[in-house]
Amino acid sequence: MNNLNDRLQQVRLEVAEAERQFGREPGSVKLLAVSKTQKAADVLALAQLGVSDFGENYVQEARAKIGQLSGNSLTWHFIGPIQSNKTRQIAEHFDWVHSVDRIRVAERLNAARSPDLPPLNICIQVNVDAESTKSGVGPDEVEQLAEQILPLPRLKLRGLMALPAPTNDFAEQRRGFLRTRRLQEQLMDKGYRLDTLSMGTTNDMRAAVAEGATIIRIGTALFGPRTR
Ligand SMILES: *Cc1c(COP(=O)(O)O)cnc(C)c1O
Repeated sequence: MNNLNDRLQQVRLEVAEAERQFGREPGSVKLLAVSKTQKAADVLALAQLGVSDFGENYVQEARAKIGQLSGNSLTWHFIGPIQSNKTRQIAEHFDWVHSVDRIRVAERLNAARSPDLPPLNICIQVNVDAESTKSGVGPDEVEQLAEQILPLPRLKLRGLMALPAPTNDFAEQRRGFLRTRRLQEQLMDKGYRLDTLSMGTTNDMRAAVAEGATIIRIGTALFGPRTR
């Protein structure tokens, strides 16, 4: 608990410092705590320290935690690769999905989202490095997917998500995030009303803040190294 508190304060300091350094509005970068593989008790501890948003990659694991922690009014984000047969559960239990990269998944999420819930917040995952092994749509396909998602009434398109290839080179980190921001700007020039750039993890959050991230997805820096 002390450890969690120390790490959280450290991350908050680094984010505030990056906001200052890169001319971002103070408090304009939201911290999404990536709690995959972490215990519900640790999520609760962070929630009690003021963290409201949590990211999960595995539906089964997430459902158990979401159930245990209901009543804490947390916001849950699905950030992992999406299997078509999991779309119903994702639509039922999450508030956001950051990893939409094909229309079939978007349609299934839309069909499964209950009219009793607010529309599901959606980010299109962009593969800015065009690495064939990773999920995400290629930069050339983003606009077409946005066009297809826009009319789906139970989804609300909020922006783009990127997970560029890991590198320790700050300038290179920035390039991947800059490409993502440019794609977002192109969409906005075409009239899309977007407010979210989900980019930056423990290793590259400063570069992401520099390039306009509005949500950073932080696991290791908050919870320590994952053991599984
Ligand atoms: C695991 C994960 C993160 C968190 O990464 P850390 O390096 O632990 O901060 C962020 N985004 C996605 C999509 C992830 O799967």
